[in-house]
Amino acid sequence: MKEKSKPGLSGLSLEDLQDALAPLPAYRGQQVFQWLAQGVPSFQAMTNLPIALRKSLEEGFSLYSSSISAKQEDSDGTVKLQITLEDQERIESVLLIDREGRQTACLSTQAGCPMSCVFCKTGTRGFSRNLTAGEIVEQFFHLRSLKGPISNIVVMGMGEPLLNLAELRKALRILTDPEGTGLSKRRITLSTSGIDYGIRELADFGPDCRLALSLTTGDKELREKLMPVTKTNPLPALKEALLYYQRKQRRRVTLEAVLIRGINTREKDVHTLADFAQGLETMVNLIPWNPIAGLVFEGKPLQEPTKEEFERFAGELEKKGLKVTRRLRRGKRIAGACGQLGAAE
Ligand code: SAH
Ligand code: SF4
Repeated sequence: MKEKSKPGLSGLSLEDLQDALAPLPAYRGQQVFQWLAQGVPSFQAMTNLPIALRKSLEEGFSLYSSSISAKQEDSDGTVKLQITLEDQERIESVLLIDREGRQTACLSTQAGCPMSCVFCKTGTRGFSRNLTAGEIVEQFFHLRSLKGPISNIVVMGMGEPLLNLAELRKALRILTDPEGTGLSKRRITLSTSGIDYGIRELADFGPDCRLALSLTTGDKELREKLMPVTKTNPLPALKEALLYYQRKQRRRVTLEAVLIRGINTREKDVHTLADFAQGLETMVNLIPWNPIAGLVFEGKPLQEPTKEEFERFAGELEKKGLKVTRRLRRGKRIAGACGQLGAAE
């Protein structure tokens, strides 16, 4: 229990760490920062520090403010971690491994989510609070402790990242710091449910990363029902914000659509999605809806799309000249796939 009250150091920026360690000279802070970025198991392992200093760090601080409280591994290699924060809030983070063995960290930005998308488990769990930059950074370190180096980040865990942009910006600055983890900005993707002023803020002030919009459908009425955020952030305003982002960032944006059987796979959805994409430099990422028991829409339980339905939808978008990718389903058996994060168990 005593351990709990010691401040964790791994989530701090170099400057904040140097402040936390004052009056130690700045170069000591830099050494500690580098060790933490390497994922040392203890202060004792920081071998270029005097033994007395290692001991006093150990007495005054802990490596992390959060801890892994549960771990589940899928046979496809995906690992889902439940992480308990200092105030006992629980969040989830996922390690994804692709066919080439490349590892991606899927990070959460909020405990829960206030957006209430009807097809998402996180959305139905409600919202507790924003995560701090340190809590976002520590998820990366906890995931890296599992199977070694991670090259990519997707900000697609629990929560709406554009509602916690200042802390996310700080977290990504720490993770891309060449003195520390030194991750490439090109390998970070943020996914949003669509907040127009947030997209503009991202375009103007960063973080510098790739952007994906969870469009789901271009049909206004349907999107308002599936994703209530649409009522205050209508589709034309989102498109304007994306065009602004592209003018400033000169980067392709991804449009994601989670396909739900019989709901957003209609002819109308093909047309409205293609219309939305018009004029944008974009590609469409299709995701089969991952089952979550108990979710209903207009009185009927949601269902995964059939293979034929999914392929027909993809094919029709391709016929309209869109570049379409299909997201591989990973971690389904451990409920570590998109939209299955809940941290209730
Ligand atoms: N809040 C952000 C990022 C986290 S959700 C956002 O909504 O974009 C990441 C992705 O998972 C989103 O594209 C979302 O549409 C998708 N998703 C949510 N629930 C899902 C489910 N049950 N099956 C498949 N994808 C889902
Ligand atoms: Fe929140 Fe994204 Fe889930 Fe919607 S899909 S409830 S924005 S986490």
